[in-house]
Amino acid sequence: MIEADILIIGAGPGGYATAAKGAAAGKRVVLFERDELGGTCLNRGCIPTKALCRSAEVALTVAEAAEFGVSVGDIRMDYARAAARKDEIVGQLREGVESLLQGVEVVRGDARFSSPSVVECSGESYTAPTIVVATGSRPAELAIPGAELAVNSDFVLAMSELPKSMVIIGGGVIGMEFASIFSAFGVKVTVLEYCPEILPPFDPEIAKRLRMSMKRRGVEIVTSARVTAITSDMTVEAEVKGKPKSFSADMVLTAVGRRAVLPAGLEDTGIELNRGFIKVNPATMESSVKGIYAIGDANGLCLLAHAAEAQGERLLGHEVNLDVIPSAVFTSPECAMVGMTEPQAMEGGMDFKVGKATFRANGKAMAMGEADGLVKVLTAADGRMLGCHICGPHAADLIQEAALAIASEQPTASVVSTIHGHPTLSETLAAAARASL
Ligand code: NAD
Repeated sequence: MIEADILIIGAGPGGYATAAKGAAAGKRVVLFERDELGGTCLNRGCIPTKALCRSAEVALTVAEAAEFGVSVGDIRMDYARAAARKDEIVGQLREGVESLLQGVEVVRGDARFSSPSVVECSGESYTAPTIVVATGSRPAELAIPGAELAVNSDFVLAMSELPKSMVIIGGGVIGMEFASIFSAFGVKVTVLEYCPEILPPFDPEIAKRLRMSMKRRGVEIVTSARVTAITSDMTVEAEVKGKPKSFSADMVLTAVGRRAVLPAGLEDTGIELNRGFIKVNPATMESSVKGIYAIGDANGLCLLAHAAEAQGERLLGHEVNLDVIPSAVFTSPECAMVGMTEPQAMEGGMDFKVGKATFRANGKAMAMGEADGLVKVLTAADGRMLGCHICGPHAADLIQEAALAIASEQPTASVVSTIHGHPTLSETLAAAARASL
C-alpha cells in the first residue's frame, strides 16, 4: 500500500492545478490519469475551441478586409490547417501542464475505489487522508429516437473536414460557440433551442443581442423548439411553438448539457449523488463520505474550468471567493456575465437600477469595426454592483473589472470614479456603470 497526503483522480484543470499547488506546499500528492493530461478543458473543450474561435475571427476579418482598406485575393478556407493549428496549441500547452507537475507523482491508468480510503491503479494500491475526485464530465445524450445518429462536441473537435450543413441541437454555450466557428467557415448552421431564448443562464437581453448578431451572419436560430427524433437521412424532427417542423443537414450535433464522469467503485463507497453529480459541502468540497472530496464538473456546482481550479484552492485551505464566478461565451461577438441577471434580481425582489451603454458610442470599438454590442450593469439601491452583462468585443476580458467590484463589494460608484483609459473598450463598462447609479 502506497501512502500519500493527497490522492487526486483526474488531471483536468481542477486535478492538475490542485496537485501542483499541493506539492508546492510540501504534500505528497499522487495524481491518476487514464488519458492525456489537461482534461476536457485542454483536450476537448476550452483551449481547442478557442483556437478555432480565433481562426473563425480571422476568417470574418479577412472577409471584411476591403472595408479596412486592405485588398486580399480570393479567400480560400482551409479548415484542415485551422484544425492542425488547434492541435499544435493543445500539444504545447500539454507540455506546460507536464512541467507544472514536477513534484507530483503522476500515475497513468484507470483509477478505481476498492474501499472508501483505497484507490487502485495500474496494479498498485494507494491510500491518503484526502482523496479528491476530479474526473470531469462528458457530453449528455438526447433521449429521442435516432439520437445515436448525432455527433457530440468531442467528435466535431476531432474533425479536420467540415460538412456543408449542420443542425445543432441546443443553443447553450457549446452549441453557440460551434455555431459561431462553423458558420465563419461557410457551414450552413441551424440551431434548435428548447427554451424561448438561447443561452438560458445569461441575461435574456444579452442572449438576444447575440442571437440577432448571429442571424445577421446567416445562422438560423430556432427557439422554443422541442426536438422529437432524428431520422436516418439526417433530418431532425421538432415541434416548434407547437407545430411540427423538420430540419435537414449533412451532420447533426447535440450540445444539450453534460453528465458527471465517476470513477469505478465510487458508488460502492456509499457516496451521495445529486442528479448524477457528486454531492459536496460547497464550503469544503467534501462529499458525504469523510475524506472523499469532489471538485470541478464531477460535483456539478459550476461546469467551468476556473471554478474547478478555485474549488481546489478552497479544498487546500487557500483564500478564494467561490460566490462570484465570471463566465463567458467565445462567440463572435463574445458574451460574458458575472453576478445577477435582471430577471434574477427581479425575482429576488431587489431594489435596483439598470444602466446600459452600447459599443456604438465607443471610439475604440468603432475603430476596430466591432461596435455591435451592449454592456448592462445592475446596481442595488445601496450602491452595490449586483451584476454585469456584456455582449461585444473582448467581453470575456472586460467582465473581470465588474467581477472584482462585485467580489470585493466595491460600490458601482468606485468603478465610475476610477479613470478608464481612452480610447478603450472599458469606457463602455464605465458608461453603463454610471447609467446604473
Ligand atoms: P448548456 O446547459 O449550456 O446548454 C444546453 C442547451 O441545450 C440549453 O440551452 C438547453 O435548453 C438546450 N436543450 C436541452 N435539451 C434540448 C433539446 N432536447 N432540444 C433543444 N434544446 C435542448 O450545455 P452545453 O452547451 O452542452 O455546455 C455544457 C457545460 O459546459 C455548460 O455548463 C457550460 O457552462 C460548459 N461550457 C462552458 C464554456 C465556456 O465557459 N465558454 C464552453 C463550453 C462549455
